[in-house]
Amino acid sequence: MYEVFADLHVHIGRSKTNKPIKITAARSLNFENIAKECVERKGINIVGIIDCASPYVIEDIEEFLKNGEAYEIEDGGIIYKNKVCIILGSEIETSEVNEDGKTGSAHNLCYFPTLKDIKAFSNEMKNHIGNITLSSQRANISAYELIDIVKKYNGILIPAHAFTPHKSFYGNCTSRLERIFKEKYKDIPAIELGLSADTFLADKISELETKTFLTNSDAHSLPKIAREYNKMLLEKISFKELLKVLKNEDGRKIVCNYGLDPKLGKYHRTYCETCEKNIEGEAPVTTCPYCDSKNITMGVYDRIEIIKDKEKTISPRFRPPYVYQVPLTFIPGLGSKTIDKLLNHFDTEMTILHKLSKDDIEAVVGEKVANLILLARDGKLSIEAGGGGVYGKVTTKA
Ligand SMILES: [Zn+2]
Ligand SMILES: [Zn+2]
Repeated sequence: MYEVFADLHVHIGRSKTNKPIKITAARSLNFENIAKECVERKGINIVGIIDCASPYVIEDIEEFLKNGEAYEIEDGGIIYKNKVCIILGSEIETSEVNEDGKTGSAHNLCYFPTLKDIKAFSNEMKNHIGNITLSSQRANISAYELIDIVKKYNGILIPAHAFTPHKSFYGNCTSRLERIFKEKYKDIPAIELGLSADTFLADKISELETKTFLTNSDAHSLPKIAREYNKMLLEKISFKELLKVLKNEDGRKIVCNYGLDPKLGKYHRTYCETCEKNIEGEAPVTTCPYCDSKNITMGVYDRIEIIKDKEKTISPRFRPPYVYQVPLTFIPGLGSKTIDKLLNHFDTEMTILHKLSKDDIEAVVGEKVANLILLARDGKLSIEAGGGGVYGKVTTKA
């Protein structure tokens, strides 16, 4: 067995024929460019592209498979240049009713082994979604119903960014996933933590002790691929092996989660929409202490404080370490030219963030930036928490 890097949540902006897929994502983010970026700049070995149920993207994939450098394998997944395994996925928004009868919506990551499977899934979902060509569309069914459709086409379902305030199960629909999925809860192998949460926060909820935690980028542009990722131990890169990793079977597992310090995420603390500011007081903040308004966007940290059923974080024995990483774009004084310079010298961002010595970095970009990258590696930067859709900030000066 050997170790690989995986990022299972990457969006597509446009199809190659320039049809919009995810409007808020970059135009350059198409199927082929994602595959290339993973191989050439990111060092990612398994990538989940989650807009593959769009018929325009399906056309792109069919074209992509014709060129010879990419092919489907029997165990599921598309291998490109013998270096990266592309997992075909689809993000679906479901409609839920929570404990007090209010309605909410949640995002679900659905992954499939073959193009044939996701095509069939796409075809069936046309009955439940207004416009199947676009990303992350709302379906008129609940996740309890969606999971059956996913299973019918040999797929798996994973709750996406499980705690974010607007489109997630814990953030918007429920305090317990088991209430949503009932007897099917056991069929969910993992949850995605999202940028504003980490293992230490999520392991305050006991129903998650049987689930694997995923740290994915939710990238809306090429540079953001792998801002969070998972290091996995497996036998080869394929859908089948990925499934074993998620289920912790036969020695396959996630060895380490690499993610942002959750304070850097866009929804870490509660944000007052009236005062337009983040509230850093003692959690949970549910009312603005400045204007008494309840017109707030709940922070992930605050929400977990409300729904947790453990006083202290207790992780199950199989839980891998969670290593904070500060992507280069978050480091103050590091513009895109300097980042390009670093990447040209050292290959991938992962090498720069986690492996290189201070001397090596300093030789290319000078002492100040090198110091910051090292401080980030040791978790010693000071960070102003994010909230209300605005990322947190590194406040240590270069
Ligand atoms: Zn989403
Ligand atoms: Zn306020």
